[in-house]
Amino acid sequence: MRLCFVVLIALQAALASSAAAQQENFIFRGKPSEYEDYGYAVRGAAWRFPGDAERVLVVCWENPTPANEQARRWVQDQITKTWQRHTALEFRGWQACAARNKGIRIRFNDEGPHVRKFGRLLDGVSNGMILNHTFRNWGASCQSNLEACVRSIAAHEFGHALGFAHEQNRPDTPGECSRKHGQGQTRETMLTPYDPQSIMNYCNPDYNNHGELSALDIKAAQKLYGAP
Ligand SMILES: [Zn+2]
Repeated sequence: MRLCFVVLIALQAALASSAAAQQENFIFRGKPSEYEDYGYAVRGAAWRFPGDAERVLVVCWENPTPANEQARRWVQDQITKTWQRHTALEFRGWQACAARNKGIRIRFNDEGPHVRKFGRLLDGVSNGMILNHTFRNWGASCQSNLEACVRSIAAHEFGHALGFAHEQNRPDTPGECSRKHGQGQTRETMLTPYDPQSIMNYCNPDYNNHGELSALDIKAAQKLYGAP
C-alpha cells in the first residue's frame, strides 16, 4: 500500500512536471535577442542593490481574495524559509499591489505558473508572476497535493524571479536529461557545477526539489545576493 502511494505521488509529480515543462516552454522560445542577457545564473538579470543598501525585494499580490489567502500564506512562508533564509535578501510587502507597485507582482490564475521576465526585469511588471492555487485547468494532479504544489512551484518561480533559468538547459547537462527536457541555451553564466538536485532542474526526480533549495542552489544564490 505504501509503495503504491509512493508510486502514485511520483506519477503525479511527473505529470505535474511535464505539464509545467510544456507551459513554461513558451517563455524560452522567444526571439533569442529577448533573452540574450539571461542564463542559469543569468548574467545581467540579477537584482542590483546600491552599496551596502538593504537587499529588500518587494512582493505584492495582484488579486488577493479570501479564497487564495491560505495559498498566499504558503507562498510567503516558503519563500521566507528558502530564498530569504539562505541569502541576504529580504522579501517585504506581501500586500495587495498598488497601481504602480514596484517589485515582484504576483497574480493567481488557473494556468501554468510562470514569470514574464527574469530577475530584475520583472521589477514592477504587472502580473509578472503567475501562480496557481486551484489547479482545475492546469496540473489537476496537484489538487490532491495542494499545499506541496503551491509551495514548491512558488519556490521554483521565485528562482526565475531572482534570475535563474532552468538547470537542465546548461551545456553540461547529461544527455538523457537534455534530450528529454532541454529547451535550448541562451547566454548563461554557470555559477556552480551541474546540479541534478536543483530546484530549477526538470530532471530532478523530486518535483521542484520538494520546494527546497539544494546545496548548490544556495551556493549560487549566495554568489549573487550574499549570505544571510
Ligand atoms: Zn521554470
